[in-house]
Amino acid sequence: MGKQYETVIGLEVHVELATRTKIFCGCSTAFGGAPNTHTCPVCMGMPGSLPVLNRKVLEYAVLVGLASNCEITRYCKFDRKNYFYPDNPQNYQISQLYLPVCQNGYVEIETEDGSKRVGIHEIHMEEDAGKLIHDTWEDCTLIDYNRSGVPLIEIVSEPDMRNAQEVIAYLEKLRLLISYLGASDCKLQEGSMRADVNLSVREAGTQKLGTRTEMKNLNSFKAITRAIEGEQQRQIDLLEAGEPIVQETRRWDDANDCSYAMRFKEDAQDYRYFPDPDLPPVRISEEWLERMRAALPEFRREKMERFRREYGLPDYDLQIITQSAHLADLFEETTALCKEPKKVSNWLMGEMLRLLREREKDPADIIISPAHLAALILMKDKGEINGAAAKEVFEAMFDEDVDPHSYVEEKGMKVEADTDALREVLGQVVAAHPKSVADYRNGKEKAIGFLVGQTMKVMKGKADPGAVKEMLRELLQKES
Ligand code: ADP
Ligand code: MG
Ligand code: ZN
Repeated sequence: MGKQYETVIGLEVHVELATRTKIFCGCSTAFGGAPNTHTCPVCMGMPGSLPVLNRKVLEYAVLVGLASNCEITRYCKFDRKNYFYPDNPQNYQISQLYLPVCQNGYVEIETEDGSKRVGIHEIHMEEDAGKLIHDTWEDCTLIDYNRSGVPLIEIVSEPDMRNAQEVIAYLEKLRLLISYLGASDCKLQEGSMRADVNLSVREAGTQKLGTRTEMKNLNSFKAITRAIEGEQQRQIDLLEAGEPIVQETRRWDDANDCSYAMRFKEDAQDYRYFPDPDLPPVRISEEWLERMRAALPEFRREKMERFRREYGLPDYDLQIITQSAHLADLFEETTALCKEPKKVSNWLMGEMLRLLREREKDPADIIISPAHLAALILMKDKGEINGAAAKEVFEAMFDEDVDPHSYVEEKGMKVEADTDALREVLGQVVAAHPKSVADYRNGKEKAIGFLVGQTMKVMKGKADPGAVKEMLRELLQKES
């Protein structure tokens, strides 16, 4: 039998913080402005400009640290990480090496063998770089510094993960905590959350860590899974062939399902780190830290408990609704307006999730307002619109948050409830299908379904099938 191997994985996760302004200047962090419009001498690295720390960045970093059981460094500093690259106008990145703001934490993840702790070595604050645009012209590269100075935290895990499932569970857990805190929307696809995967293999049962490689450019859970599976196999094959594993950065090419070497891993020394002389150290007082602790929101587990108690929702619903703070808030605010918790939950679990999947969106992108969703639920309850119409309105609300009343009015979707027009159609349907009528009277319950269907067809769906059924029963009873 061949040797057994164990995979060892540690993650470096960069998260873009949801502050309004950049980390060391007052420029906007808004995404998508015309190139180089959200810039100033500080984030363009002009000589003589001075950085000033954005207090909100420190708050978010500390909140994430508290939520992940870290020790908070009471005296923390910024350091310069020197490197030359055109996306970095200062020729150094302001980061934290010696005294990162949070250290020695952990988060809990659920695995096949129960829950497990993944250690967090540290969380540090740093600035993002600008963006190089290579493909517009053949012979030059363009630079957009709008992203330069956007605040990041880097969350460095211990090498505690053993397979792709654990890595995904860890990232999901971080995303959940951070989005509940409102510190970031953590979107892998859009780059507000970026994961670098460090991976090594070792013979099962041994303690010493193997030589690792680092993979970058992973922007979906699927890519992460495939990259991990590909890389562990590549390393095992090398070991089996008696060849060395080189410590290097590899780029995962998702289109071709393979990775290739990008560069040898630089020594930390190559960056010539030293304390940034322009930024004073940050002292964190007990009192301020207490305020941060008090500002921690209700997290998922507590929220699930409370929703169970207050709204009597089943476990399945609780699992789904609390998977994002945004969804949970929408649930609660809508329920406050329409007093129908289970119906709100059904809409969120059904149509909402279906549309999110179909449009490839994230719960954070939901724009439906609680007032509109509550109104829709009440309209459907009163029988003003039928189920199919309600779904259509919901979809319009999903895309544009339309007002359901005016939408239904405009599109003429209102149900004809117990009107003369409906009675007339019923009469026609009954007259046109004597066989079904006879079947129904002879006890064939199914026959009435057919008559309801025929009525709905003539009404072009603008009737409530339940009400139609009742009216038909009454009619057929009367006439027998
Ligand atoms: P660097 O300073 O080169 O970035 P770090 O020591 O900060 O290296 O580690 C970076 C990440 O790599 C951490 O998440 C750590 O857990 C992980 N890591 C370190 N050594 C290994 C290894 N041998 N196998 C897998 N992951 C590792
Ligand atoms: Mg590192
Ligand atoms: Zn600026």
